[in-house]
Amino acid sequence: MRDWERQAALDARLRTYQLHIVVGRPRILDIGRLGTFRFPAGRYLYTGSARRNLIARVRRHLSRDKKLRWHIDYLLTAHAVKVVEVSLSRDAECPLNQRAAGEIIVPGFGASDCRARCGSHLRYLGENTP
Ligand SMILES: [Zn+2]
Repeated sequence: MRDWERQAALDARLRTYQLHIVVGRPRILDIGRLGTFRFPAGRYLYTGSARRNLIARVRRHLSRDKKLRWHIDYLLTAHAVKVVEVSLSRDAECPLNQRAAGEIIVPGFGASDCRARCGSHLRYLGENTP
């Protein structure tokens, strides 16, 4: 069992997750109906939530073998893209996302249900952010 899984199993109030993503080289990717975007190499942060089955949700994100459904699926199944860390929070998704630094590369990414005007639930943190 991985750290984040153990943490989620012990605390039922955890409902928000952040995926720390590395894009190993610049990629041009189709993100479903949003369109085609250029993703610079570097680190990204994706913030999402699951009211139930948080572990199953995050496991699904980490799996490459799935039907593409959400915007994040298109990014995470691409070559040279990987999740390097998962962090969990009790905080609501949008405030947590809005506290994250970084720039918006794809307007509307992961934000179809967002009513807090985040702009995007994917943030680009830059090329060399540790
Ligand atoms: Zn939001």
